[in-house]
Amino acid sequence: MINVVKTFLPPQNEYHDILKKAWETNWLTNRGVLVKELEKKLKSYLKIDNVLITTNGTLPLQIAIKALKLNGEIITTPFSYVATASSIVWENCKPVFVDIHPEYLTIDETKIEGAINKNTSAILVTHVFGNPCNAIKIDQIAKKYNLKVIYDAAHCFGVKYLNQSIFKFGDISTCSFHATKLFHTGEGGAIISNNNLLDDEIFKMHNFGHKGKENFSGIGINAKISELQAAMGLAVLPYMSKILNGRKKVVELYNSYFNDLDIQLLKIRENTEWNYSYYPVIFQNEEVLKRVVIKLNNSDIYPRRYFYPSLNRLDYVDFYSCPVSESISSRILCLPLHYDLPKNIVTKISNIVISQL
Ligand SMILES: *Cc1c(COP(=O)(O)O)cnc(C)c1O
Repeated sequence: MINVVKTFLPPQNEYHDILKKAWETNWLTNRGVLVKELEKKLKSYLKIDNVLITTNGTLPLQIAIKALKLNGEIITTPFSYVATASSIVWENCKPVFVDIHPEYLTIDETKIEGAINKNTSAILVTHVFGNPCNAIKIDQIAKKYNLKVIYDAAHCFGVKYLNQSIFKFGDISTCSFHATKLFHTGEGGAIISNNNLLDDEIFKMHNFGHKGKENFSGIGINAKISELQAAMGLAVLPYMSKILNGRKKVVELYNSYFNDLDIQLLKIRENTEWNYSYYPVIFQNEEVLKRVVIKLNNSDIYPRRYFYPSLNRLDYVDFYSCPVSESISSRILCLPLHYDLPKNIVTKISNIVISQL
């Protein structure tokens, strides 16, 4: 069986060797040595000044909204995983959906200003499939209207934009280290803020609001990651270049088959060092997509309709018309992409896809 994603598992003995430290210290959570070591290594690997690792990639979105004291309306994208929109609603704010760019698949920045009003407090958007939003333009708009910017950068591990980590854009970026993501800790995630004061606030918030053992400063939640998860991250991190190289080869092979065909591929924004996180293909219409899925499933190959449905169609949000997102959502399919997906399987998948165009 070939799935859309395959979790990278490091050699078991290497994971165990790292876990020994947790046994030696008899310490499994509350920011032990392994959590601190992983944060330090991530800062160095990603070339960022700070990172707080967390138990998943969704709590960081909720904490970001709370830490920035957002209320009222938040401008967001309809083309993302459900967590982007649900976190806004969970924090009692209202998602205002602005349509996406038909090629980059990120929010169409030229349409943002039209959605701003006196109730707007922020822009919370996704760097889709690791493809950066137009962060420079979004930053200009945010400054002009005094809005905060949060990036759901769940797919962005290792992405660079304009020669720096993509996590450096906006007030806060969040990442996911879920087992299906490029770099993972089983379950896990991170918050990266670009402001020291905010950093302090976020740190307290992710640990119940504790300020020392006996004092509390504001409301908090529990978003702490455990030593067991951090150990997985420490075991996976040394393999990142191998993972990225393997994925790059698969992407290039797919590209070589799909060039010049009646199929739309993801357009990566200029000045981006991409991370090969997903391989989406966009068909002419949903019927072709459905035929392809059936044919692939018959060969025990399971692509995923990612992202579907368009989030402006969720039943707990107000509907905003987003024809581009809805059209793309109905026609887009992520093909299997693993660092070690054999060439003959990529060829087989490509041939099945092409046979249905
Ligand atoms: C995976 C993902 C999340 C959620 O991350 P978890 O670690 O699963 O909580 C949020 N946003 C996007 C775009 C994602 O793909």
